[in-house]
Amino acid sequence: MKTHVKQLNIRTHKKLQLVDITAEVEEIVRGSDIKNGICLVFAPHATAAIVANEHERGLMEDMLEKISMDYPHNGKWKHNLIDDNAAAHLASAFIGSGRVFPVLDGRLIRGTWQNIFLVELDGPRYSRRVIVEVLGE
Ligand code: ZN
Repeated sequence: MKTHVKQLNIRTHKKLQLVDITAEVEEIVRGSDIKNGICLVFAPHATAAIVANEHERGLMEDMLEKISMDYPHNGKWKHNLIDDNAAAHLASAFIGSGRVFPVLDGRLIRGTWQNIFLVELDGPRYSRRVIVEVLGE
């Protein structure tokens, strides 16, 4: 089995933000020389997440609104007593830090309306890392 690992470094500009990384991830899969396997997209951060869904402006705003509703910044979170970002940690924990995609015939498989996003939950940040690891043959 072969592995091919690359890291994306992404600057974010807002407290809550979706950053479309589909093109970058697909480029890494194409450059991996791996025909069949899986592609892990992982954000090694406690206050960011990875999701796959439609790149449509309204829906992107809806996703951020849903996160704000589910994890309100001003909730009575204990972590806010030491670090004012409990909502970001909770959203990251339950949305998830990574997603896995199939790789078939050298292509990353995703739905037509499944772009890949880094979810910034506690920005802006100078550099968010996303690890893209392709494993297979
Ligand atoms: Zn914290």
